[in-house]
Amino acid sequence: MTAAATVRTLAATGGAADYGHVLAGVELDGPAQRLAALLDPSFLSEAGWDPAGRVLSLPAGHRLLGRAVCRAGGCATTQHTGLGGVCHRCFTRLTGQGMTAEQIAGSPQLPALPARVTRCAVPGCQREATVTQAIMCQSHVRQFRQRAGGPAIGQFLADPRVRPLPPFSPCAVAACTRAADSARGYCNTHYQRWRVAAKTGRRGRAGQPARAAAAGGRAGPVRGLPARPRRREDHRH
Ligand SMILES: [Zn+2]
Ligand SMILES: [Zn+2]
Ligand SMILES: [Zn+2]
Repeated sequence: MTAAATVRTLAATGGAADYGHVLAGVELDGPAQRLAALLDPSFLSEAGWDPAGRVLSLPAGHRLLGRAVCRAGGCATTQHTGLGGVCHRCFTRLTGQGMTAEQIAGSPQLPALPARVTRCAVPGCQREATVTQAIMCQSHVRQFRQRAGGPAIGQFLADPRVRPLPPFSPCAVAACTRAADSARGYCNTHYQRWRVAAKTGRRGRAGQPARAAAAGGRAGPVRGLPARPRRREDHRH
């Protein structure tokens, strides 16, 4: 059976167009369409698949797909083997607070992670604070540092000339889940990689970094699929 005949057969049987649960906003045809339509919607939603963002976020508490989450309150990192059920960072934090490894392993309740500042402190600003301890986004930190006379932080935040900023869009690299907080629509890590690639002549089209691996060291979401699977003949150049 030829490819054209396959498409015709599928069109005749109908129902094959029902693949919105696999890839939203994409038109598929041929074998890709047939395979997509065969995927069970309840399986995909249970596995944490987002058909619009093409991100797979495996649910931590799932019986088969889950993982052992750190026992410290407010922490979603995976447990590190041999540390009494906590992640490496929490182990360092708790031992720093004077707990022994035995106490960590034996305590049914552990001191929770300190509340994290996630939003910039400028009223209405929708950008994230740069690092855990920072209270403002990068743009506002820069503005604050450039202010003549070195105002107090409270003065700066109350100044009506300090305007809130809209959120960043997602990084333009296919498998990256970070925000595009640097120039050219990339996250800082991919912007740095792009600069290195551009310098060493490994750049593809102007302004396009190579399709890079997902954000380093982060478990969970995966966004690596092209919008439309390529047919084999596309590769024969
Ligand atoms: Zn932890
Ligand atoms: Zn801000
Ligand atoms: Zn990125």
